[in-house]
Amino acid sequence: MATKLELKSYRADTHNNWCPGCGDFGILAAMQMALFQLKIEPHRVAVFSGIGCSGKTPHYVNTYGFHTLHGRVLPTATGAKIANKDLTVIAVGGDGDGYGIGSGYFVNSGRRNLDFTYLVFNNGVYGLTKGQASPTLAKGIQTKSLPDPTILEGINPIALAVGAGYTFIARGYALDVRYLANLIAQAISHRGSSFVDILQTCPTYNDLYTKDWFEEGNEGQPRLYKLENTGYDPVVHDPNDADELIAKKVQAVGKSYEWGEQIPIGVYYKVDRPTFEDEMASRRPSLANTSLLNVDLNDRDISPLLDSLR
Ligand code: SF4
Ligand code: MG
Repeated sequence: MATKLELKSYRADTHNNWCPGCGDFGILAAMQMALFQLKIEPHRVAVFSGIGCSGKTPHYVNTYGFHTLHGRVLPTATGAKIANKDLTVIAVGGDGDGYGIGSGYFVNSGRRNLDFTYLVFNNGVYGLTKGQASPTLAKGIQTKSLPDPTILEGINPIALAVGAGYTFIARGYALDVRYLANLIAQAISHRGSSFVDILQTCPTYNDLYTKDWFEEGNEGQPRLYKLENTGYDPVVHDPNDADELIAKKVQAVGKSYEWGEQIPIGVYYKVDRPTFEDEMASRRPSLANTSLLNVDLNDRDISPLLDSLR
């Protein structure tokens, strides 16, 4: 008899050692709420991570999981999805991991349009190694652990994702958990490469992008606002219409440069187009089964491989 799914079905017992007040707690809760909302059984989900504070996430979710190498979460998650395309694959990582050392994978995973979800915990610093400037920290910003303000321009992850070809692009906020859970659920439900940049507070090393800064920093008013409340339409309604496709990309990139007094969150861009799995299956019908590697995982004895790793 199937076990009744509850929110706690996605919670692991592992001791959590993120700093008190870290925005990562909000993202973890939102991931679990999204999986529960979609009623995806834990054994059908695999969560992959890179290195950094966010890298601990798979330990805290009761699904399959793999804590991989620095910047290498996307190729690992890609391999898992190709091996078992019925698996719900979620890759997570920090801004340093994904937009720094992993930036080549970030770009090429977008254009591949494999059906998976990538969540980036974006706090502007390398938290695990004591708060050095990450690729998203804006020029002139000096966090607690920097001897001087950073002299480099910050990158724009949303604009980069549009250029890379992600087919679902959103931005969330770690401390608006319900809203973030809904965005993550939409990202998982989307067939194709889904990307969510998540503004995450790091109270230990980034004392500039704080809860107060996001929620009251615009003369007492929130900086964050929701795109859908402004009539913004992120969806490409006719993917064969080149003019609409370009217009929606330009719209998303334009919005992504709004930063400061007002910062938009929500879905920036969404288009349905054939996934990597669809393309492969149309070229080689023999691959239209569970695994694009054309192996039956149920019949495969992997014990020699496991033995070699002991
Ligand atoms: Fe969170 Fe920052 Fe602590 Fe890492 S260093 S656990 S990102 S508060
Ligand atoms: Mg970071």
